[in-house]
Amino acid sequence: MAKSSENIIEVKDLVKKYNGFKAVDGISFEVKRGEIFGILGPNGAGKTTTLEMIEGLRPIDSGEVHIDEFNVNNDPNKVKSVIGVQLQSSAFFDYLKLTELLEFFGSLYQRKVNPMEILKEVELEDKAKSQVKTLSGGQKQRFSIASALVNEPKVLFLDEPTTGLDPQARHHLWGLIQQIRDNGKTVVITTHYMDEAEILCDRVAIMDAGKIIKLDTPDNLVDRLIKKGFKKKKVEKAANLEDVFLDLTGKLLRES
Ligand code: ADP
Repeated sequence: MAKSSENIIEVKDLVKKYNGFKAVDGISFEVKRGEIFGILGPNGAGKTTTLEMIEGLRPIDSGEVHIDEFNVNNDPNKVKSVIGVQLQSSAFFDYLKLTELLEFFGSLYQRKVNPMEILKEVELEDKAKSQVKTLSGGQKQRFSIASALVNEPKVLFLDEPTTGLDPQARHHLWGLIQQIRDNGKTVVITTHYMDEAEILCDRVAIMDAGKIIKLDTPDNLVDRLIKKGFKKKKVEKAANLEDVFLDLTGKLLRES
């Protein structure tokens, strides 16, 4: 059991070495039930390695991870029953319809799924009979999230979910991720976009060189920096170029 019922994930002194190099260097943190938790950091910081150890996909050198009532070190398969991990589009067979793919993924978990219900959650009902190759970038991302929902997970892991999407599709996906959380799931997300983290995440852990260097709410982190006397070189206006872009082109999704 995660030691506190408030926490759905507890990570303690997690370490991963590659030939003596510590890619993850003794990190500890907790994720609370129902929050959207961000893991941020520059390339090579150790985010993917951390996520994959938590998900039970990469062996842990030392340290412990508890998810819900399971210890990842002892029960990796049980952990897989409570987590949802996005599949990459290379895992999608071209000749199957979206509904058939979801049924197939469900069968991997020995679960009978209701594909239309899952497609509704990611607003792809009208694409039910389409093949993945005909989807737009945003639709593919949404389907990849759908693939992570087939086992009705308690925790959803999203690895850079909006990379490569246009502003309309990003904003739309943020709304969907918030909805999935509001429906009772915990979300752990990695991203390179600070605006995304600021809008979506209740708390963020900032990683660098295998360590967590700061963990707090985006608001507290910004306030603390300002308190230290930080001044922006250019004072921001009440709107930015993205606001202009969305004002001109609208928030409507551009997909058929
Ligand atoms: P991030 O996701 O933050 O970009 P990674 O977890 O992918 O960081 O990588 C952290 C560090 O570990 C990097 O220096 C990377 O080169 C190294 N690394 C990751 N996977 C392997 C591997 N399989 N073998 C050797 N080194 C690796």
